[in-house]
Amino acid sequence: MEKLRQIFKENGIQITKQRLQVYQVLKELNTHVTAENVLEVLQQRGISMTVATVYNILNLFDQKGLIIKVGAAGEPVIYDINTYEHIHICDQQTRLVRDCPDHRLVELIDSYLAEHPVEGLELQRVDISLIGRDKTVHPAEE
Ligand SMILES: [Zn+2]
Repeated sequence: MEKLRQIFKENGIQITKQRLQVYQVLKELNTHVTAENVLEVLQQRGISMTVATVYNILNLFDQKGLIIKVGAAGEPVIYDINTYEHIHICDQQTRLVRDCPDHRLVELIDSYLAEHPVEGLELQRVDISLIGRDKTVHPAEE
């Protein structure tokens, strides 16, 4: 818990019991989650929180750079605790999200943007999702 408090401090997030509880769950799940996923784990632990509170906390974490919203995935919003630059693969049908294993794609985009900056934009991060029928999710249909 002490380490979590430190992380909050470094990111300018005021510490509350609920925020610590939500972040603890995110760390343990360590994958792409919806607010509902987080709420489910909290409920299993006998922690009572409204879905609106969970959303507020997740959006605060996103604003502070502690987690990221997976942009193109649509509704319900999917959050990712892994904030390093990576590309997502989203299955259109199941809405399952996984990380793209090809890191050369990120390097390619980064080097392109370094050479061709977008006029008038101070780039903060690149958010790319590849959307389609994920063959690792639907192997039987091959
Ligand atoms: Zn991810």
